[in-house]
Amino acid sequence: MIDERIGRNIDRIRQVVSALRAATGESRREITIVAVTKGRTVEQIKEVIAQGIAGIGENRVQEALVKYNALSHPRYAPRLKWHMIGHLQTNKVKEAVRIFDLIQSVDSPRLAQAISKEAGKINKQQDILLEVQTSPEESKFGLKPQEIPEVFKEISCLPHLEVKGLMTIAPFTDNPETSRPYFKMLRELSEKIDWRLEAGDRRPIVSMGMSGDFSVAIEEGANMIRLGRAIFSRP
Ligand SMILES: *Cc1c(COP(=O)(O)O)cnc(C)c1O
Repeated sequence: MIDERIGRNIDRIRQVVSALRAATGESRREITIVAVTKGRTVEQIKEVIAQGIAGIGENRVQEALVKYNALSHPRYAPRLKWHMIGHLQTNKVKEAVRIFDLIQSVDSPRLAQAISKEAGKINKQQDILLEVQTSPEESKFGLKPQEIPEVFKEISCLPHLEVKGLMTIAPFTDNPETSRPYFKMLRELSEKIDWRLEAGDRRPIVSMGMSGDFSVAIEEGANMIRLGRAIFSRP
């Protein structure tokens, strides 16, 4: 059965995104919507794909694998970009590197080294983001903001890994304004790093904002937002 709610939700999100983009005076800023599909079914994911969304975010390798295999048909697979957004354990790196296009949750040099090593074995350049713990009291994982320049330097010379930008998770609250300082911190941090990106990437990825606070994230410079409930739930 087609879940029409998903289409309506995505339409509404896109309207909000373009209005915000215009309001920030950057009508050409590309803002990638990643549909966070943890706990959702393959049928629901197909509905998201039908709406033209390519980014699929999962926070567990095992769950992602099942869905990845279910969507391996050429009708879906070539259009999809798989994003790892949850904490990644070293013993899951091998599988993660096989299926994910972007690992957003890299939170230690050791994990980065493991990723580069596994990527090398399958001749892959693995794109990653560094996860930043912008609010130490709330999130368990992530690098401290002050560690980022050093860690970036340390891992950017790994042979099979490409650091594309930064990601953060703001504390969960009912008031999106509480996220603003954390988002601002991430964007400012992204501007301090000498990214040395490839010619195709004009800007680093700044992945921040979830269903409750993506508007604030866009105002603060996000170019990738990760949405679960806003896409799948009743408004
Ligand atoms: C679950 C999750 C999201 C999406 O959360 P919603 O509030 O449902 O939009 C985004 N990012 C991460 C890292 C998540 O774990």
